[in-house]
Formats: sequence, structure tokens, C-alpha cells
Amino acid sequence: MKIADRFKEIGKEIEPYKATLVAVSKTHKPEVILEAYNAGQRIFGENKVQELVNKAEVLPKDIQWHMIGHLQTNKVKLLLPHVALIHSIDSEKLLLALEKEAGKLQKPIQGLLQVHIATEETKFGWSAEELISFMQNFPFDRLKWLKIVGLMGMATFTSDEAQVEEEFESLQRLNNEVKESFEYCKDFSVLSTGMSGDYRIALKRGSTMVRIGSKLFGERNYTQA
Ligand SMILES: *Cc1c(COP(=O)(O)O)cnc(C)c1O
Repeated sequence: MKIADRFKEIGKEIEPYKATLVAVSKTHKPEVILEAYNAGQRIFGENKVQELVNKAEVLPKDIQWHMIGHLQTNKVKLLLPHVALIHSIDSEKLLLALEKEAGKLQKPIQGLLQVHIATEETKFGWSAEELISFMQNFPFDRLKWLKIVGLMGMATFTSDEAQVEEEFESLQRLNNEVKESFEYCKDFSVLSTGMSGDYRIALKRGSTMVRIGSKLFGERNYTQA
């Protein structure tokens, strides 16, 4: 199947939910991304700073690049000129570094707080309890350039769909809770959940933004990148 047809197919599936599609283009070459661009896609997700920057420099300027992978504070400066939304803010330290660099560039920037919902130890992010406590204590009025617009989460990599649904549901509940409890979160508009293997479940559980890679571009070959 051609890339344009895959985009059409997935677009039809997420349309009833009014969700936004982030095409995860990590490891894929600019030519492949351009094919998706020519099919109408404008939002692409990458998980490595240097790879995102390299692609942003050679591809059309109206592409919105989303950073979806773990971000180190020492890469923030390199990333910021090119990025529209950062999905993976997983610490106060990173949040402050983003605010500071955005201020230097005088560039308003949007981000999501990554919540750890999976059972796997390796995934980054705040637990629900940590997030609530952060919300209670962080002086959000100090953020002038970085605006937090929602939450992001990744479910456990498992074929147990009931478990995946439970995890997405717990994040959906947390999202509702913070929106109700904290003035700053009242306008949260993004819940970034769902990948190739679980986006249908994520959409059922309130996702407003799905991050899909292999189902659009085919399997990744990591030696190409
Ligand atoms: C790679 C990646 C995706 C997309 O994964 P697929 O299974 O290929 O759809 C989504 N989110 C994050 C954070 C990723 O790193």
C-alpha cells in the first residue's frame, strides 16, 4: 500500500474522534517524509534531537515538528528553534530549562507533561501522585514562554488489551482530575496517547492526539537513520 493510502485510511479512523495525527517519522529519510507531506500531512514526530533538527533543516518550513522522545536538558538549545510541541517533559529541571531557553529565543513554546502509566520500569515520566504534587507546588505563573497544554502517556507494550485500556483510562481520569482541580490546567486541550499497536484503545479512552509510526511508514530499520 502506498503511504498516501495509509494516511487516508488512518485519517478516516481517527476523524470521528477529532484527534490529531502525529506521523512518527523517526529513522525514515526525508524523501519518505516528503511523500507523507505531499499527501497532506503536516505534523511529524521524532524522538532524537539531532535527527529532528537535520530533517527540519531540509524539509518544508510549514511542517510542525513534535519532540516525542526523552529530552536531555543539554539538547534543549539545539532543539528549540525547530520544535512546535514537546510531548516528553518529564522533570521540573527540563521544564525550567525549556522556559529559560525559550525566553532567550523569545519563542513561545508548548509542551506536555509525560505521565508514567506503564508497568515497565524503563519508561520516563511522572507518576500520578508525583504529578498532582508537582501541580500543587510549582509556581506556574513563572512560566512566560513555555505553556503546558496537556498530558502524554505510553501504555505497557503488551498484547493484553484490557491492561492497555486500564492504563489509558487511568490517564484519562488523571487528566480530568487536574483540569478540575488546578486553575492552570483548566484549558488543557491535549491528551497524547496511542501508537500503532494501541491507538484504537487510546481513542476510546479520550486521546486527542495519536502518535503513529510503523502503521504509516512500515517497519523501522534502525541502521538507516
Ligand atoms: C516510536 C514512538 C511512537 C510510534 O510508534 P509506532 O509503534 O511505530 O507507531 C510513538 N510514541 C513514541 C514516544 C515513540 O517513541
